[in-house]
Parts: sequence; C-alpha cells; structure tokens
Amino acid sequence: AAGVALGGLDMWLTELFGWSPFGTMSHGKPDHECLLPLEKVKPIRYEKPDGVLTFDKLSSVFLSNTNHEEDQPVHLQVRDMGLQKASEHDVYGGPSQRYCPAGVYEWVEGEGGVRFQINAQNCVHCKTCDIKDPNQNITWTTPEGGGGP
Ligand code: SF4
Repeated sequence: AAGVALGGLDMWLTELFGWSPFGTMSHGKPDHECLLPLEKVKPIRYEKPDGVLTFDKLSSVFLSNTNHEEDQPVHLQVRDMGLQKASEHDVYGGPSQRYCPAGVYEWVEGEGGVRFQINAQNCVHCKTCDIKDPNQNITWTTPEGGGGP
C-alpha cells in the first residue's frame, strides 16, 4: 500500500509540476550502445518451452491476434543489408533473432551464405528492433490498418 501511495504522489507531482521528489534514474547511454560483441559474451541455454507454463514464440504471436493485410507495404526497413551482415550478424551474433518477441528476424543459411530473413507478417509492433539494433539500421514504421495486438 505504501508503494502505491508513493507511486501516486510521484505521478501527480510529475504531472502537475514537472518535478519528482525521487528524481529520474538516468541510463547513461542509449540502449543500443549497451550491446556487447559476440566474442565478449557467453551463450545462455534456455530450456525448451513445455507448453504448460512456457510457450514457443509463434504460439504466443498467434494468441496476440495480430493480423496484417497481405499486400500492404513492408513496415520494417533495413537501411543497409551489407552492414546488417557485417556487423549485426558477424560481430554481434544476430541479436535480432533473440530480442524480437515474435521471431520476425532470422539468419538463414543458404547456398550463397547466410541471409537475413524478415517475417514481417508476424510483427507485434513492440518497436524493439528500431531501438535495439546495434547500428540503428532497422526502422519500424506504422503499419496500415488496425490489426495490432
Ligand atoms: S517491432 Fe517488435 S515484434 Fe516487430 S519486428 Fe521489431 S522487435 Fe519484432
């Protein structure tokens, strides 16, 4: 109850006077500058989803009821595909495959080497890719229609 009261006080003082007695925590630098290159991190092994308490990404995307018209313009733009391969994949190990909650981004092995695949129809519009990409190379734009989660 004390937490709710303090939260309410903080919210109303900020709303009315633009000032909070508790101050604002600062992050120091933008989120995308906090990513470490692959060589400086150890992989985290996650248990496979059990379908009871934990679920795979695409089942959850289905439950979000997100829907896009087939023929609408692509709302996720990668400015420079060469940079995406040279940096996002080669240096950072493809973090988009992990931070995107909807499995939109995949690095797929093919005959001509690895390829960046964008499953834009799965997007749940959280905008993480726009913020988190280490090179700010991905731009999320508002999709057409009101089919979001
Ligand atoms: S906006 Fe969110 S759900 Fe959509 S592609 Fe970016 S990270 Fe994935």
